[in-house]
Amino acid sequence: MRYRVMAEAYQQLEEASGRLKMIATLAELFRHTPPDLLTPVTYLCQGKIAPDFAGVEIGLAEKLAARAVADAAGATEDRVAASLRRTGDLGSAAEHLLGRRGADGHPALGVREVFEELRAIATASGKGAQAHKISGLARLIRRASPLEARYLVRTATGKLRLGVGDATILDALAEVHAGGRAQRPALERAYNISSDLGLVAATVARGGATAVERLEVRPGNPVRPMLAQRVSSAGEILRRFKGACVAEYKYDGERVQVHRRDEEFLIFSRRLERITDQYPDAIKLLEEGLRPKRAILEAEVVAIDPESGDLRPFQELMHRRRKYGIEEAMRRYPVGLFAFDLLYAEGHDLTRRPYPERRAALAEAIKRSDHLRMATQETVHTPEELQAFFEQAVTDGCEGVMCKSVAPDSVYQAGTRGWLWIKYKREYQTALQDTLDLVVVGALHGRGKRRGKYGALLLSAYDPANDAFPTVTKVGTGFTDAHLAEIFERLAPYQASHRPRRVDSRMEPDIWFEPTLVLEVIGAELTLSPIHTAAWGRAQENAGLALRFPRFTGRFRDDKAPEDATTVDELWQMFQRARARNRKA
Ligand code: AMP
Repeated sequence: MRYRVMAEAYQQLEEASGRLKMIATLAELFRHTPPDLLTPVTYLCQGKIAPDFAGVEIGLAEKLAARAVADAAGATEDRVAASLRRTGDLGSAAEHLLGRRGADGHPALGVREVFEELRAIATASGKGAQAHKISGLARLIRRASPLEARYLVRTATGKLRLGVGDATILDALAEVHAGGRAQRPALERAYNISSDLGLVAATVARGGATAVERLEVRPGNPVRPMLAQRVSSAGEILRRFKGACVAEYKYDGERVQVHRRDEEFLIFSRRLERITDQYPDAIKLLEEGLRPKRAILEAEVVAIDPESGDLRPFQELMHRRRKYGIEEAMRRYPVGLFAFDLLYAEGHDLTRRPYPERRAALAEAIKRSDHLRMATQETVHTPEELQAFFEQAVTDGCEGVMCKSVAPDSVYQAGTRGWLWIKYKREYQTALQDTLDLVVVGALHGRGKRRGKYGALLLSAYDPANDAFPTVTKVGTGFTDAHLAEIFERLAPYQASHRPRRVDSRMEPDIWFEPTLVLEVIGAELTLSPIHTAAWGRAQENAGLALRFPRFTGRFRDDKAPEDATTVDELWQMFQRARARNRKA
């Protein structure tokens, strides 16, 4: 299969006006893809060469890629730089320069060799790696047509940015290989338990929907975490659970998913990044206390005061987020593990078993010790019991409680925010003081003291139905100077020259960003707004929901991907609840 076919599909995807058109374009591409190439083609459509959790990223520095472009196009580096300034993107610059050189009459690049070369570029390390990366990319560009060069460069620098979400790729795969988009939930589950679109693609191409349904969790492939709904009254929680549920301490730490394959331990963050190196002490605890040799378990890592043994706030885990000095961080800020779920043990996928069974298996699997414990839990039947347990949890240093269904259908719903888990947090008790996790999509230039930095940030929620990021608010308070400097530095690489495709906004900020950074904000109330687009038209025609008086809490939610941000449905529910409360008052 020629890379040209992909380049043309990319171009159509860039020009596509809506999601249906994108699905159709991808479906066409998948139809033309031989089965043995479907996995690489799927990764390439994501702008990747491997699933995220594998930790092989392309992301060649732009400076190095520019040298490859100069070399391949026979232009000076100054000319490449000038073209980059004019077009605003190195891919377009390469396309332009190659076009001037006169297009190759026989572009014959194959998808397989492009994929292999990109992989070699990504994995080159050690002495001479830079030179290898540059010459590898130059080799590809030299044989590319101008259009192919555009996408080769963007892929190699990690900036393909087609605006194609994973959900769109799943839809297209379902259409071509599973008999239609009605099968999308089966594919979605497979993706949620494997986190590998390439694997889902290969599986569905081989055995259709049946094979995909049979896919099981496996140690090594992170499972997308099950998430909780939120509710702010004990009575409503028990009504939802028909009079009985388990309430568990909701620890204020970092969620980890531990995978064990015999002697090997891997720890994944909530965003499925490998964070094994941050917690050697947690691994030691599990080496001593985890019985099954092959297992996937979930736990909250919590910082523990070395003197008093009390639980410490989440912020203290920040000392683990660095390459060096982990030894010292381990001494000064030791951690404990509170296990709360078991997804796999010794060859058995437990995700389809009800929660009480998983919890019983977890209790069997763990030899408890001082720092390796099970999440404290209690079965409750009345709002009074739940409230008393909640207060105990808060007294013991927790954020609140997680209420979990114990019904026969209380399976582990990977990647889903369903009603089998409901969180009941401290701040929800005061009306309209919910924290939201929102994605930065734009910024306004700062003035006065903030000159040269961002003045305010435009924030979005996530809308899974449309795979879009509609705006909710503009926040300028709660930032220290250090926050502002950090935010500036972290957002700079994600600046976009125009509104990124998945961002849904009626406001035009000074700067746009690709949705990446998630911040926690607190606000006074949700109101109808003609400017913000979240839940647009749901409450009233030509109005969306906006958060009034937002303030940054100081918490960067690096554990959340943009798609994990507060959703428009959650906003909608909060809005309706507040309305109902106001009516009562
Ligand atoms: P939130 O981050 O506010 O959406 O709350 C969900 C998070 O609570 C999970 O991702 C876990 O990190 C954390 N958590 C703490 N204790 C528990 C528990 N017992 N069961 C499930 N999640 C818990």
